[in-house]
Amino acid sequence: MKIIYLDNNATTRIAPEVVEEMLPYLTDRYGNPSSMHTFGGHIHRKIEDAREKVAALINAEPDEIIFTSCGTESDNTALASAVESQPRKRHIVTTRVEHPAVMNFCHHLARKGYRVTFLPVDRQGQMEMGTLLKMLDDDIAIASIMYANNETGVIFPIERICGAMKERGILFHTDAVQAAGKIPIDVKKVPVDMLTISGHKLHAAKGVGALFVRKGTRFHPYIRGGHQERGRRAGTENVASIIGLGRAARLAHRYLYEESSYLSGLRDRLESGLLKSCPDASVNGDRQSRLPNTFNISFAFIEGEAILLRLNEYGICASSGSACTSGSLEPSHVLRAMGVPYTAVHGSIRFSLSRYTTEQDIDAVLSVMPGIIRELRELSPFGRDALTCRTDCANE
Ligand code: PLP
Repeated sequence: MKIIYLDNNATTRIAPEVVEEMLPYLTDRYGNPSSMHTFGGHIHRKIEDAREKVAALINAEPDEIIFTSCGTESDNTALASAVESQPRKRHIVTTRVEHPAVMNFCHHLARKGYRVTFLPVDRQGQMEMGTLLKMLDDDIAIASIMYANNETGVIFPIERICGAMKERGILFHTDAVQAAGKIPIDVKKVPVDMLTISGHKLHAAKGVGALFVRKGTRFHPYIRGGHQERGRRAGTENVASIIGLGRAARLAHRYLYEESSYLSGLRDRLESGLLKSCPDASVNGDRQSRLPNTFNISFAFIEGEAILLRLNEYGICASSGSACTSGSLEPSHVLRAMGVPYTAVHGSIRFSLSRYTTEQDIDAVLSVMPGIIRELRELSPFGRDALTCRTDCANE
């Protein structure tokens, strides 16, 4: 069966160009980049070349990029470094819609006695700037606010948020895992102090990431040991994956605008086709400020998981909530933070496209989805009668 992969915010296919670039470093060129001999020295130069390419994707300087093992490590490192370098400051600011990589580290800090503010979002999943401004004080060690949301694709006004932080001298980190490679990011224009990137969301390998740390930012390493990454992240480098990430960043950078319009065209066709052909469907999130590849749609009165299972029978891969929380029937914390009604939260599906998505993939979904929704509604225990009760319960 042909796989129709529309779950690219969970992970992406490695680009063939990236595999090609990585292969020699998984086979013949196995040297250690820290070695003195030429065999290792060559690898060191390739890593520095990858660093330049990743830096170029966000208009950073190469020595502002630290390679890590994943987006989660980069997020944890940013937060840990901030609290360690400012021991007197005890307040952390983040949002209610962050990925668990930030959210759970903040809960961990809360358990250690830090005061953590989880900022609310509005019904569109957008930042409430007024609330944010009211929360800012001199005790903040770091504000960590994501660039774009993994479940809805909503892009936060990072330039404005960052401006507010800088006016008050607050250290600012953004999780740009879903934004990097999909929308332009320029750290010379948006003065974030730290920014997270993950390889497997932009057609590089899993298990590699990067953390941008602006020159002059006080930094404490999270992983200590050898002198790799100029002492900022110990451990022998994941050479092939780092080199692959460089290639992936170069590809994403070069084709950013072209890909963005290709993706938003396909995305909009799928979205409007589903809204037209499936009754009681609604889109979650700010459609004016969204990643070009993502949309999140709710089908009232049915379970998202049931829709996923039926789509799976056709080889169609999508997601309900984030991949990390699937497997449990816990409703999405992002949609709940947005105040999406109970029945709609449970019937929500995320479609996320990539450069490898085709018109035929979109047609395939459009041809099967109305039938799936009709069938499931007929079988659903969440009939319309249940709606009033469940909405009331959710509002309690
Ligand atoms: N941040 C966001 C917004 C994500 O979507 C993800 C992964 O889904 C992560 C962080 C974690 O990245 P990684 O899987 O590389 O640890």
